[in-house]
Amino acid sequence: MIRDIMDLHTHTIASGHAYSTIIEMAQTASEKGLELLGITEHGPAMKGSCQTIYFQNVKVIPRERFGVTTLFGVELNIMDEDGRVDLPEELLPAMDVCVASLHIPCCPPKSLEENTRAYLNVMKNPYVNIIGHPDDPRYPIDLRAVVEAAKEHHVLLEMNNSSLAPTSFRKATTEGYLEFLDLCKEYDQPILMGSDAHVDIDVGNHGYVAEILELAQFPEHLIMNTDMEKVKPYLNYYNR
Ligand SMILES: [Zn+2]
Ligand SMILES: [Zn+2]
Repeated sequence: MIRDIMDLHTHTIASGHAYSTIIEMAQTASEKGLELLGITEHGPAMKGSCQTIYFQNVKVIPRERFGVTTLFGVELNIMDEDGRVDLPEELLPAMDVCVASLHIPCCPPKSLEENTRAYLNVMKNPYVNIIGHPDDPRYPIDLRAVVEAAKEHHVLLEMNNSSLAPTSFRKATTEGYLEFLDLCKEYDQPILMGSDAHVDIDVGNHGYVAEILELAQFPEHLIMNTDMEKVKPYLNYYNR
């Protein structure tokens, strides 16, 4: 079993299509023995999610509760192949953690070249810490180019547990994951397991991903969830 003390990709009721509060999420994280929780609401371009002013005000929320460090950040929507995102540039340094993701309602899938360019360009943004669910088969990408760029720009690639759930819209496959993980091994590129929880009980749920990591015999030094010290250099919160 892989040691797993963090979950940096979760949503609360503020996202509009998630169902638990900050308190419920932090409490569940604590009960599950996590040390670090990331609350990363969808950016304003996602219909029904919070507006820019929500992200401007996250400074008021305590970061320590129930023995868990809770970071407040954002799951940015990548809006186009230039890697534009849906929060003003000047607000990004205030985000404890920035996940950047492609979502169908905000940037529908295009050609492999265009999807790849969207990731490569967003990774040039110094405040983007994590690429969310790059495992989505609906967005074909040049995996090698994405892994290489993640290495170059010091960005984590997420292995998204929700993408592997049988009920997922994304329907990531084990085969796709194994290919991805092989490239991460080749480039010595770290990964981060994320639950993408939209309800409290899913906090820290990384079971599907953990199974694949074991199957791939993925090296522990590249799995960021095992150790706070490994992940800190990648997150805005610890590098201000
Ligand atoms: Zn969502
Ligand atoms: Zn997402």
